[in-house]
Amino acid sequence: TEGLLGYCRAGFEPELAAEFAERAAAAGFPGYARTDRGSGFVRFLGVDDPAALARALPWSTLIFARQKLRLLAEVAGMDPKDRIAPIMDALGGRGRHGDVWVEHPDSDAGKPLAGLARALGNALRPALRQRGLLSEREDPRLPRLHVLLLDGDHCLLASADPGDASPWPLGVPRLRAHADAPSRSALKLEEALLTLLTPAEREQWLLPGMSAADLGAAPGGWSWVLAKRHVRVFAIDNGPLAQSALDTGIIEHVRADGFRWTPPKPLDWMVCDMVESPRKVADRMATWFREGWCKRAVFNLKLPMKKRWDETRDCLQHFVDHAGRPLTLRAKQLYHDREEITVHAH
Ligand code: SAM
Repeated sequence: TEGLLGYCRAGFEPELAAEFAERAAAAGFPGYARTDRGSGFVRFLGVDDPAALARALPWSTLIFARQKLRLLAEVAGMDPKDRIAPIMDALGGRGRHGDVWVEHPDSDAGKPLAGLARALGNALRPALRQRGLLSEREDPRLPRLHVLLLDGDHCLLASADPGDASPWPLGVPRLRAHADAPSRSALKLEEALLTLLTPAEREQWLLPGMSAADLGAAPGGWSWVLAKRHVRVFAIDNGPLAQSALDTGIIEHVRADGFRWTPPKPLDWMVCDMVESPRKVADRMATWFREGWCKRAVFNLKLPMKKRWDETRDCLQHFVDHAGRPLTLRAKQLYHDREEITVHAH
């Protein structure tokens, strides 16, 4: 049962399965994905060297994986009166962990298990410590144990390299909506900046006085996120902006077509949330980099209903092929992304 375990948005299991299979094969680790539609997780099995495969597929490079773990064992038929013992047995012979997270899939079946997961975590922690399987204090140099509860009597055991995994339980960052944000979409850009940039990049690349364009800006959530960081924004949209966006004083509303508008001078940033075919958006994003109109970008690709993995791969390839310069590319389906992914390029 050893292999990889990835968490994903419920409904996007086929995309993560395809991504695992294609990337693993390309890295020389053929195997097969196992998943159930709507379950919120995918296993990748049948690999000779799961540790090497895990290293070959860093979490930050996986688009559809909110979390990436090494799958250690499956524990089924647990006695509800003692779930600890079978977990201990399954862990037998494993080394010490630096932390333990008991989680549940982010799915209809998984969400009701949140209370049980919390209780099991509280019971498991001292039991693991007693056996020397968990450090006294949280230690990020040691692997982190993940218990993914699938049901009251069924779980998967997995481990994370804290340096190569989502730092958030369930792979979901906790972001609080701001009362005066023009739209809930603001959270999408905040999550993108948090997930796709390193802390150092956020500090160096989002400075007061910088400039940005926001293509498809209305009602202004993304522009507002940038303006909050004192970045001046050209907000391109034929639709109206919310007053809270205009009140920042550094967002200039331009009524124009986001596929035709060009900036008056090169900008630090371009962000784009236009609802259009991903191919058309990827092509326009490539033009921006080819022409040197921006240094860095965050854009969304809205995914069609079918062949979403193929479309994702092909659109990103099209973007890279037409950007006219070598780029660093990071893409993820964020928690706040529904039928879409978010891309960062610089
Ligand atoms: N990111 C925005 C926010 O945080 O409030 C929400 C953007 S909304 C999902 C998509 C926007 O893209 C719409 O306001 C729509 O008018 C705009 N849009 C779609 N096609 C466009 C185009 N060709 N040019 C400019 N805006 C466009």
